[in-house]
Amino acid sequence: MPGLYVHVPFCLKKCDYCDFFSYPLTGNKVALVDLYLTGLKAEIQLCQKDAPSGVSSLFVGGGTPTVLELEDLARLLQLLNQGFLLKPGVEATLEGNPGTLSAAKLELLRCSGINRFSLGVQALNDKCLKEIGRSHTSEQVGLSIQLIRAAGFDNLNLDLMFGLPNQSMLDWQQTLEQALKFNPEHLSIYGLMLEESTPLARRLRSAEPGTILLPDDELQARMYTWACTRLETLGYLHYETANFALPGFECRHNLNYWNGEDYLGIGPSAVSCLRGLRWRNIENIKEYGCLLAKGQQPSEKSELESLPLRVRMAERVILGLRLAKGVNLGAFQKDFGLDIRDIYGEVIRKHEKTGVLFVREGHLCLNQKYCFLANSVLQDFV
Ligand code: SF4
Repeated sequence: MPGLYVHVPFCLKKCDYCDFFSYPLTGNKVALVDLYLTGLKAEIQLCQKDAPSGVSSLFVGGGTPTVLELEDLARLLQLLNQGFLLKPGVEATLEGNPGTLSAAKLELLRCSGINRFSLGVQALNDKCLKEIGRSHTSEQVGLSIQLIRAAGFDNLNLDLMFGLPNQSMLDWQQTLEQALKFNPEHLSIYGLMLEESTPLARRLRSAEPGTILLPDDELQARMYTWACTRLETLGYLHYETANFALPGFECRHNLNYWNGEDYLGIGPSAVSCLRGLRWRNIENIKEYGCLLAKGQQPSEKSELESLPLRVRMAERVILGLRLAKGVNLGAFQKDFGLDIRDIYGEVIRKHEKTGVLFVREGHLCLNQKYCFLANSVLQDFV
C-alpha cells in the first residue's frame, strides 16, 4: 500500500522565504478553490486503481490546508474518505498554520479521521517571524495549540526554523524552549534554505551592508547541535536529520518515504513514486482542472520518468542515511537483488575508515556527529 500525499495549494499569504507551489487565498483566488476541489475529485477517481487496498498513511499538506473555509475543508476530507480506504489506526496528518484554525475546523478534522496535526510555527519571536514574512504572531501560536489540544489531538508536530535573518543563538534557544512548553510529541527543525527567487533572497541582495545578517555556517551548526542535545536530553528520539519524536510518535508517513516505499501524490505539483515510475503534477490550478475535466493525467509527459536502477539505489541510500536507524541492508538486497557493497563497497570502506559510516544491526548508518558533513558524504553515492 502506498502512502498518500495531498497538496492543498493555498495559504493566507506567501511567506518571504517560500518557493512551494501555493497561492495566497485572497479576492479572485477564492474561485480557484472550487476548480481545485473539482479537479481533485477527478484525480482521485483516476488514481484509485493505484491504491486498491487503501493507503498506508495520509498527509494533507501544502500550502495551508486549514486556510480553506469550513465547507471546503469538509468537501476535501469527504473526497479523501470516499476515495481511499483509511483503515482505523492509519496515521492521518494535516498541516495548518496559526491564524487559520477554529474549533469547528478542528472538530471536523477529528471526525474525519485526522489523528495527527502539524503546525507551522517556525519561530516564537515576533521579530524573527516578521523577518521571514510569516502572517502570524507568537501569541497566535499559543492560541492555536490550545485549540488543537482542546479538539483532542494527542499527536502534535511543531515545525521550527533556525538560521533566520538577524536571529541570535539566544533567539533560537528561546524559541525552542517556548515550543517545548507546549509538550509537542514531535518536532521538525529545519535550517533556512535561501531560494534565489524568493522575496527574502531579493531583500538580502539589495540590503545595505550590515542591516540584515544571516547566521553563518558556524552559528547555524551550533544552533542545530544545541537543539539536538537539548531534545535528546528530554527524551526525544533524533530519528531523522531534522526530526525528533517522543517514542512511538515518529512520523510513519515520512518514514515510509525515507525508506524508499511507494507513495502517491495528488493535487497540483504533487509528486508520486510508484512501481519504479515517478511523476509530478502540473503546477497550475487552472490547467490541472482542465486536464482532469478531459479525463487526462494532470502531469506533463516529459516529467514522467522511469527511474533507472542506479538512481533508485542511490536515492535509497541517500534517504536512508538521513535516518538514525540507517539504510536497511536486507531490504536493499531484497529490492535490488544486490548486496550494497557490490555497488558502493569502495565508498562505504572510505567512510568507515574515518568513522563517518558504520554498520549496526543490519543497517548502514551515518554517525550523527557528522550530520553536517552529510552532503559531501551523500554526494559520493550519486
Ligand atoms: S505557510 Fe508554508 S506553504 Fe504557505 S507560504 Fe508560508 S511557508 Fe509557504
